[in-house]
Amino acid sequence: NPNLGKYDPIKDAAWKYKERVPYSALARTLEEIENVSARLKIIQILSNYLRSVIVLTPKDLLPSVYLCLNKLAPAYEGIELGIAETSLMKAIAHSTGRSMAQIKADAQEVGDLGIVAEKSKSNQRMIFKPARLTSQTKKVEKIQSMFVACQDSEARFLIRSLAGKLRIGLAEQSVIQALALACAMTPPNQEYPPKKIDASRDISADSFKAEYEKLALILKTAYCECPSYDKIIPVLLSKGIEKLPEYCKLSTGIPLKPMLAHPTKGIQEVLQRFEGLKFTCEWKYDGERAQIHINEKDVHIFSRNQENNTSKYPDIISRIDGCKTDEVKSCILDCEAVAWDKEKKQILPFQILSTRKRKDANEADIKVQVCVFMFDLLYLNGEALVRKPFIERRTLLKQHFKEVEGECAFATFLDTSTMEEVQEFLDESVKGNCEGLMVKTLEKDATYEIAKRSRNWLKLKKDYLEGVGDTLDVVVIGGYLGKGKRTGNYGGFLLACYDKESEEFQSICKIGTGFSDEMLQTHSDFLKGHIISQPKSYYRYDSSLEPDHWFDAVQVWEIKCADLSLSPVHRAALGIVDPEKGISLRFPRFIRIRDDKNVEDATSSQQVASLYSNQEQVKNQQQSGTYAE
Ligand code: ATP
Repeated sequence: NPNLGKYDPIKDAAWKYKERVPYSALARTLEEIENVSARLKIIQILSNYLRSVIVLTPKDLLPSVYLCLNKLAPAYEGIELGIAETSLMKAIAHSTGRSMAQIKADAQEVGDLGIVAEKSKSNQRMIFKPARLTSQTKKVEKIQSMFVACQDSEARFLIRSLAGKLRIGLAEQSVIQALALACAMTPPNQEYPPKKIDASRDISADSFKAEYEKLALILKTAYCECPSYDKIIPVLLSKGIEKLPEYCKLSTGIPLKPMLAHPTKGIQEVLQRFEGLKFTCEWKYDGERAQIHINEKDVHIFSRNQENNTSKYPDIISRIDGCKTDEVKSCILDCEAVAWDKEKKQILPFQILSTRKRKDANEADIKVQVCVFMFDLLYLNGEALVRKPFIERRTLLKQHFKEVEGECAFATFLDTSTMEEVQEFLDESVKGNCEGLMVKTLEKDATYEIAKRSRNWLKLKKDYLEGVGDTLDVVVIGGYLGKGKRTGNYGGFLLACYDKESEEFQSICKIGTGFSDEMLQTHSDFLKGHIISQPKSYYRYDSSLEPDHWFDAVQVWEIKCADLSLSPVHRAALGIVDPEKGISLRFPRFIRIRDDKNVEDATSSQQVASLYSNQEQVKNQQQSGTYAE
């Protein structure tokens, strides 16, 4: 139904009450979403589909949400879709009678196996009976039996979903919004036919907006504290979104999204921002964030991205008991795991930590020791502490946990408000092999803001104080082939930031320095596996920047730069600071790959704009009325 606001979830649905949702209904919805770029439209299209599911087949709501997100389970369960392309190609080949070589060639050309699958099906003249499968694996057979039953765009989305590359520009936040909108328009758990589906409801009316926004906020909060649709959807269906806070709250074993910090460029800025507030300075350790969950049964360690890192750190697990007092029955600790030199009793750089095995490490084989620096306590003995001010959380942390040399320690801190003392403490942190300081409010505005980049946590990094204030995490979207000794590999790359509003990757700079030859080889080997023949519809760039190869957005790089400037060719933050110009990074240098970040976690356009505007020069120019060109 093209008239989005007037969709009737019963009449306009392609299936009937109590029937299973046909995959074609979902595929058509995904197809529509792929063809639209306005975020509000996307939310409406998806919410209409979800409304029909809620009314007609509520048990298919959970699988529908997972399929939209191209996920199978919460991140911490580590179950990922990503069937090898060759298996998918085999299934396509066998069921369409085409050769592997043809399919491979098409995939190279089109850059999207989903489209190739769809076309192969529609061009198929005769029903091809594949030869009996003997050597094929079970996996290929299963895919084949689904693929054979596909019509139209179903083939495209089935194959993309199985490959783990749905990539239709649908972000998780939009799915959450669409779910709230669907529930506002068509509340779940009503008798059939439901009384409350007003197909002509004016969804732009203020009263409706208020109702929907309230639900959206409750849903978002519940998802922050309990990022598991397995837990949320059943409650939403049986009790309604309003009841989520009672049933889906912080608990051990389910990782929450961490609180994040804002960059600053100097102590002056920190003091200005926190004027009149009590705050504390902590050393900013350079390791890996570790959210440690302890309950009576087991211990889990989760990454910044809610991935389960438990098997990476058997050493932490085996000694964690020694770090807590007996009164602790259950807790969630926010910590940084840092590489530790046992002999010299000092912190080692991040690079050393990154050499540790990522999964299923055997404690006896571990060469790099880690020390856990505890900086926050979010949950204790059945009670969430996130709404308490930091000063109370810190007191509880100190009361219930203890330090063991080289194994666990409290983050070193200093409560002060004088410029000189902060400066001295910053210098000490650098001498102690730290990245700088984290400055946090203590009493007022000092709750733990889950999933938020908060103004109540400021980072003060040693390297960037005079320049930009922070490094950027950007996504590699293109490669330029190298010359001379770099022939055969890439010599430069096109990088992009992520615009959360439009869900686009916007070009921000080219980069060719900061790499050793060995590093270029590694990057080239990896990225060659992610070449696509066309740029994605959600890449924004100027044609003058066209790279030799486009890449799928799969990897995040941490980049340092001298400064940010307005650019006529780059598209980062276009329209935020200047209506026609984007922002680019000057003198970018590669620092490291950020495996712990998804591409959607890359530095956002909004952050790029604020880093740009915060530069002293720009501020001065704005004050004197002349804007930087
Ligand atoms: P962001 O997480 O802000 O997007 P990032 O992942 O690049 O950026 P940083 O800018 O380095 O991280 O700063 C935040 C990180 O610093 C935290 O996620 C945490 O892992 C680490 N950290 C180290 N010491 C502390 C501390 N005392 N308090 C809070 N975080 C700390």
